[in-house]
Amino acid sequence: MAARAEPEAETPAEGADFITEFIREDLKNGRFSHVHTRFPPEPNGWLHIGHCKAFYIDFSMAEKFGGQCNLRFDDTNPEKEDSSYVEAIKRDVAWMGYDWEDREYYASDYYGYLYDLAVKIIKKGRAYVDDLSEDEISEYRGTAAADKNNITETPPGRNSPWRDRSVEENLDLFARMRAGEFADGAKTLRAKIDMTHPNLLMRDPVMYRIRRETHYRTGKAWCIYPMYDFQHPLSDAKEGITHSLCSLEYEIHRPLYEWFIHEAEVFPSRQIEFARLNMTHTVLSKRWLLRLVQEKFVSGWDDPRMPTIAGLRRRGYTPAAIRSFVSRIGIAKNDSMVDIAFLEYCLREDLNKKALRVMAVLKPLKLIIENWPEGTTEELEAVNNPEDETAGTRKLAFGRELWIEADDFMETPPPKYFRLFPGNSVRLRYGYIVTCTGFDKDPSGAVAAVRCTCDPATRGGNAPDNRKVKGTIHWVSAAHAVPLEARIYDYLFSAERPMEVAPRPDGSPGSFTDNLNPHSLETLTGAYGEPGLAHAAPETPYQFERAGYFVLDGDSAPGKPVFNKTIGLRDTWAKMVNKGK
Ligand code: ATP
Ligand code: MG
Repeated sequence: MAARAEPEAETPAEGADFITEFIREDLKNGRFSHVHTRFPPEPNGWLHIGHCKAFYIDFSMAEKFGGQCNLRFDDTNPEKEDSSYVEAIKRDVAWMGYDWEDREYYASDYYGYLYDLAVKIIKKGRAYVDDLSEDEISEYRGTAAADKNNITETPPGRNSPWRDRSVEENLDLFARMRAGEFADGAKTLRAKIDMTHPNLLMRDPVMYRIRRETHYRTGKAWCIYPMYDFQHPLSDAKEGITHSLCSLEYEIHRPLYEWFIHEAEVFPSRQIEFARLNMTHTVLSKRWLLRLVQEKFVSGWDDPRMPTIAGLRRRGYTPAAIRSFVSRIGIAKNDSMVDIAFLEYCLREDLNKKALRVMAVLKPLKLIIENWPEGTTEELEAVNNPEDETAGTRKLAFGRELWIEADDFMETPPPKYFRLFPGNSVRLRYGYIVTCTGFDKDPSGAVAAVRCTCDPATRGGNAPDNRKVKGTIHWVSAAHAVPLEARIYDYLFSAERPMEVAPRPDGSPGSFTDNLNPHSLETLTGAYGEPGLAHAAPETPYQFERAGYFVLDGDSAPGKPVFNKTIGLRDTWAKMVNKGK
């Protein structure tokens, strides 16, 4: 795995963030009398943690100023959208603890309204029907000549030969586009702005295109669909959105946003951009996540390695941990890369408070206590959560045969190995001090069982002074343990910045999927847990002592629970920060 880079987390701004300042200013100078925001996902994929940052900002700004936040589906791309995505988005936003109440809107409900505004703009002589093809439009615009990284200072484009059609002809043609008289792609409606504008996006952008697609909500009612840059500002205006908060890539669209609001003469919503969330070892774009799903690099949108809300949820993340993360990374104006270790830090902080401590043995090895009478068991008392007294205690069955972790025993130990080896003593957590007397091997030469004796005077932590031991190991009673499957995860991408793709050895360009971590999932089918884990509840965090935090997975079957490892116990973030890195 690549070395960890310097953490470059956005640090929370001193005092209020810049969006709060802008809004305060708008309220003070009377630009707006109240605050109304919206979260506008396109239902073409499941939400990821970058979206959490966005809707955290949308909802919290509304809350801060006593306003409201809408949930609006920006669903004007029939090819890629689907109601299953709508359901997934609603479920995930609600799970994160945000409530849009009855303010659920769909841009597709505005098709009539948007059509009327397009007509209004045509009547003002500010839009025209163009017969150029998509490729010709790009060519006239000068797209090919433009520097992709700087489309706001581009050599001028040239006018379409259809640019000066009369208002009457444009109205007629636009009505006939809607009526289905023309083939897909044969005509577009374009805003008449300026083909020499330095910003490529201002060069007569397309407002409508002809597409005979079935839309998941409007079916075949429409064969023309509005483009994002036209639809979005006018949908905001329709809902009376005061502050349209979006990520930084929309900054260069802002003049267009304002142009449409101005020409349509509608409510003057204001667009404000903030930095996108980028995070190490992951990709945060639905487009890339969709590819991982479609090409089966993961089991689905909710694969526990995915940065989707559903994936994080299944992995054992809590809404509180994610909210804590998105609020602490702050709201900045410049894009930056947040170290995933910081997200994990926020998670551990929350789980440490909540998780019930239990014992499970992931790679089991039999421990036989030779001086323990066969067939007898007793109960030891264990603490459920040292961070929370109210969580109480539980009884653990203890007997002659136990499961311990295979790597808690070594035949010939290296220096500073304080666990079991012949002649050495360890404490069994909540139980006794035992001393290793020997071990059995199977015909292949592998250690099949470890033998020991138990000191009855050391029960439950009561050891005479001279019986201090350096190691404590966890265990489960072989006669009582519940078999379980444990799924252990590592980063989905071993590369810290998966989108930085190197050419392949054969000279071909390579793909971000080349950066996938081939060891991101390890399935341990022969694990054992203490009996209570047979009744584990979904979304209840457990700390498997010494092993990490775990949560029950939906793949569990009666008698065979499956647990996902949420995260290990050792924190890397606090360490990095303490080192002053
Ligand atoms: P993607 O790039 O993942 O496909 P998108 O921007 O196309 O995302 P939308 O459904 O349009 O996805 O996003 C809804 C809102 O979420 C937008 O306002 C967008 O600015 C915001 N958003 C998307 N990704 C991020 C991110 N990584 N960080 C912050 N905000 C984001
Ligand atoms: Mg988008």
